[in-house]
Amino acid sequence: MSVDSLTSWLLERPEIETVFACVCDLNGTMRGKRLPVEQAAKILGGGLRMPLSILNVDIWGEDIEGNELVFETGDSDGICEFTGRPIVLINWTNRPSALAMLWMREEDGTPFAGDPRRALAQIVERFKARGLTPVVATELEFYLYDPSGTQPQPPRSPITDKRLGSDGALSLDELQHFDEFLDDVYDACAEQGIPADAAISENGAGQFEINMMHVNDALKAADDAVLFKRLVRGIARKHGLAATFMAKPYGERSGSGFHVHFSLVNEAGENLFDNGGDEGTSLMLNAVAGLLATMQENTLTFAPHENSYRRLLPGAHAPTSVAWGYENRTAAIRIPGGSNKARRIEHRVAGADANPYLVLSSILGGALLGIEKEMEPEAPISGDAYSMKLDHLPLDWATAIQAFRRGALVQNIYSKRLQTMLVESKMQELQRFARQVTDFEYDTYLEVV
Ligand code: GLU
Ligand code: MG
Ligand code: MG
Repeated sequence: MSVDSLTSWLLERPEIETVFACVCDLNGTMRGKRLPVEQAAKILGGGLRMPLSILNVDIWGEDIEGNELVFETGDSDGICEFTGRPIVLINWTNRPSALAMLWMREEDGTPFAGDPRRALAQIVERFKARGLTPVVATELEFYLYDPSGTQPQPPRSPITDKRLGSDGALSLDELQHFDEFLDDVYDACAEQGIPADAAISENGAGQFEINMMHVNDALKAADDAVLFKRLVRGIARKHGLAATFMAKPYGERSGSGFHVHFSLVNEAGENLFDNGGDEGTSLMLNAVAGLLATMQENTLTFAPHENSYRRLLPGAHAPTSVAWGYENRTAAIRIPGGSNKARRIEHRVAGADANPYLVLSSILGGALLGIEKEMEPEAPISGDAYSMKLDHLPLDWATAIQAFRRGALVQNIYSKRLQTMLVESKMQELQRFARQVTDFEYDTYLEVV
């Protein structure tokens, strides 16, 4: 989007008085400023500045070596640059407004290596240098809940009122009960240029999934996922509901995943994973091998929070081990059946709580490493992965942080800067978590006499 097209876009919408200008932090959360519309041109002109440290999840405190994180650099500003993703309309708030997605440069003009969107852009460039383009489609699961309590409860509906775990799966009644909410979600997706495909009612009470159509632009796919999560939460609020992309909001119900389907096409647009048969090309196998080799090290990016590890348990269609298989939903990597022309990889590890830029960087970067090194995968599994002896994904958050920190392959995917920033942010968050005493402990261990 150019200054001219931004101006004409705004002229067509004189009701917009406010523009939100945001960058995406390492946790996938948008941070930024609310600007009067007259200042909008500043966003495109690179005149907007924010501290580089806001991309860290927790800027206060010490790094691993005990140094003050922010103050040693003087907490300098970065230059916020327009990403080119067209500015979008937000019309479910009190008054309509617009949102512009930005990314960071350092003062000297270098792209800021700690920006998650930059990480993905660099991987896409590396594919481009080989004449390859990733084609990506994402699937996002989320729960609608009743915001009136202190903890989430399924919203009222004929299905969720039964409070049964699995009655919602593919239920048309449940979809139709939330018709007005879904209509608004689809309208907002159309308005924001997000290619929403099918919606289904998922397994958990109040859980839904919306799939995106495939696009040959991985950055757009990640931008769309970030925007989608915001619009779903905003529209839920308009309908008196709340929505969450937490990986496991209820201990006893299914978690919410962020599945990523991808293939690679050449300059002529041919799918390079399709060998005319069911098994896929050797390029696809190289990609699978790279994904398996990097999976444990990159788990932190797929499961970034304490809560994420509650999802990675057996028996809930979420993966627990490093394995792949054809048409197998118990494996971390599934090669879906169907038309050979659409041969692709489905990566099932990430939770809906993960940062889409980091998820796509880890997946595409892992696949690229497998292709560069012509890695060969172990044999595919068939049957129930949960009951097999296989290499395990990190079982908890602390293990995943250390695996990402020490990972020998991480540097093939991420800059040192991003690796350190993510590890430091997550270690601080882990320390904060570790200092909390839970209700369970009071209920179980507090002596009452
Ligand atoms: N909800 C499952 C997860 O946590 C995925 C279910 C499915 O296969 O769509 O990833
Ligand atoms: Mg699903
Ligand atoms: Mg899926």
